[in-house]
Amino acid sequence: PFITIEGPDGAGKTTLIKGLVSLLKEQLTVPLVLTREPGGEPLAEEIRDIILDPTHTQLDPRAEALLYAASRRQHLMNKVIPALQQGQVVICDRFVDSSVAYQGYGREIGVEGIIAINQFAIEDHMPDLTIYLDLTAEEGIKRIKEQRSNEMNRLDREEIAFHERVVTGYRVANQKAGDRVVTIDATQTPEAMQQEALNIIKTRFPD
Ligand code: C5P
Ligand code: MG
Repeated sequence: PFITIEGPDGAGKTTLIKGLVSLLKEQLTVPLVLTREPGGEPLAEEIRDIILDPTHTQLDPRAEALLYAASRRQHLMNKVIPALQQGQVVICDRFVDSSVAYQGYGREIGVEGIIAINQFAIEDHMPDLTIYLDLTAEEGIKRIKEQRSNEMNRLDREEIAFHERVVTGYRVANQKAGDRVVTIDATQTPEAMQQEALNIIKTRFPD
């Protein structure tokens, strides 16, 4: 199965994935592939560096959205799909829902355009399951200020309203996504979140 982890900045995706992987490795009989977006594959990582370079203040929002989609396609074709074809479990930190939330709502490009370019990029390869870490924009920013001051340069450039739009966008899109997306309360302890995520995965994929 193809599993994606989503959530706003500061929700704890990275910590969740680390813990989840060690729990899952004890139980799985097939290899587990852990990957991330944007990036996860050499060329896609190069595109990530372009997108996230804080000096690129002139990057146009639609150009940015296209770079995310390009990086997604590259990663999907060269890493995710080959692993799935070999029967491996793929867990990916962010995927198309991030683009709907960040580029569609955050940058206010609009959901329709984002969905259109992403359909072109991923064809029918949607995740089987998406775990969404739910946290308010305010709480997320607060955590990053406390724990990762090095990321604040970039986040400072986006006003709080940007992050509010991202969280609203995720929540609206999740409603429409139905069963594919399962939400976890990200104000819980890391251990509780890991356990909950493990249970969700085991329930959805019993073998
Ligand atoms: O998940 P990670 O922290 O690696 O993401 C890096 C940054 O890229 C995030 O802070 C997020 O603001 C940004 N991002 C984005 N649009 C996406 C994916 C990530 O703006 N589609
Ligand atoms: Mg992060």
